Amino acid sequence: MGRAPQIVELLQQWGGVTIAYRRRLIDSPSYTLNHEEVEKALEEGIRFAEGLTPVAVEVDSHGHACALEVSQHHNDGDGVWHEFGRATLPARTILVAAGTQPNTVLAREEAQHFHLDGKYFRLLDEDGQPVTPVKGLAKPSKPAVVTELRADGRAMSFFGDLHPSFHGNVVKAMASATQGYPIVSRLLDKVAPASDATDAEFLAHLDDELRATLVRVERLTPTIVEVVVRAPAAARRFRPGQFYRLQNFESLSRAVDGTRLAMEGLALTGAWVDPQEGLVSTIVLEMGGSSDLCSMLKPGWMPKACWTLSSGTPWCSRATGFPTTSSHGARSSSRCRRTGAATCTGRRWPRSSRDPPTSPGSPITRMRRPTPRR
Ligand SMILES: Cc1cc2nc3c(=O)[nH]c(=O)nc-3n(C[C@H](O)[C@H](O)[C@H](O)COP(=O)(O)OP(=O)(O)OC[C@H]3O[C@@H](n4cnc5c(N)ncnc54)[C@H](O)[C@@H]3O)c2cc1C
Repeated sequence: MGRAPQIVELLQQWGGVTIAYRRRLIDSPSYTLNHEEVEKALEEGIRFAEGLTPVAVEVDSHGHACALEVSQHHNDGDGVWHEFGRATLPARTILVAAGTQPNTVLAREEAQHFHLDGKYFRLLDEDGQPVTPVKGLAKPSKPAVVTELRADGRAMSFFGDLHPSFHGNVVKAMASATQGYPIVSRLLDKVAPASDATDAEFLAHLDDELRATLVRVERLTPTIVEVVVRAPAAARRFRPGQFYRLQNFESLSRAVDGTRLAMEGLALTGAWVDPQEGLVSTIVLEMGGSSDLCSMLKPGWMPKACWTLSSGTPWCSRATGFPTTSSHGARSSSRCRRTGAATCTGRRWPRSSRDPPTSPGSPITRMRRPTPRR
């Protein structure tokens, strides 16, 4: 009573917190980019141990972490870290800071359109000339955010974590937008609009093409519903193997006794599409939580983040764990034989005791063309 709390001392008695870092404190991004964070951490009694690389986590008789084995390294000033010993740090909780990498997967998928400079996209100025980026400094003397500039004047830009000057935190990501938008505006001014539609018409067109709207939910069996969504662009671009993400908006979901019936995102494989009508069908096995809520969805409802697509069958197959070979009773054709509608080549649900029968007469194997409901 009446004593000032001795929180740091208490935490130290419990073992405290040690950051094991493979290099020196002054080499760390936290120090070079945001040294105030380091200062505040040291004020709170957090220790910083340099030149340590994790080797193994030791566990006690209960299988719980009790220590971290590290290799010790020193640097002679030649830039090379040499191991000179091993040490064991007692630890009850071990957190691994894994770091992040810029997501440049587009350069692998579209190599003709994207070019890399090291682990980042290459950087060009507004005239398409290569620029050497200022790494890690969010205030380059002359900002550059373009990575591709085509002969017709159209360009691609990149910002935030993707950019060698602006990666690392939200403030720098915002700084990249502040510094980069004038460049984008100037480039846009040089290119004639592709359409003479007004802004309102153009946005209405985008809304119609890209916004998904629920058309109907139809019960196929006591445990399976079909969810049909109007999503014209997604329907036109459907390729066998793609799957979708279906989720409701929490704020628009039904409330029962003060609890919102919000769904988690459901990964659903496309069952059929009707490109003319812009319809996409998915089959939902009611297996709990989110899938059970699908039958409550109402026509006109707009799914959240819906129709995010995978890019191809093999990836889809791995990502979902759904086999896509015909050995599992899959349709090998990408078209429904009865209707001609595009279908997924893979199975549309995992096999389980709740799987529906897959005989030809089953409502699931019957591919039906959508009938407009008015
Ligand atoms: C665990 C963790 C903790 C962090 N904590 C902090 C913190 O406390 N403070 C801080 O300032 N920063 C923090 N950061 C860093 C911060 O989150 C990022 O620096 C910042 O979000 C970068 O913004 P961005 O707009 O560049 O990228 P993002 O916020 O990553 O946005 C990129 C978006 O593009 C989408 N996308 C990617 N590829 C495609 C594609 N091909 N097509 C369509 N969409 C695509 C992604 O889905 C994503 O929505 C943290 C990061 C992590 C991972």
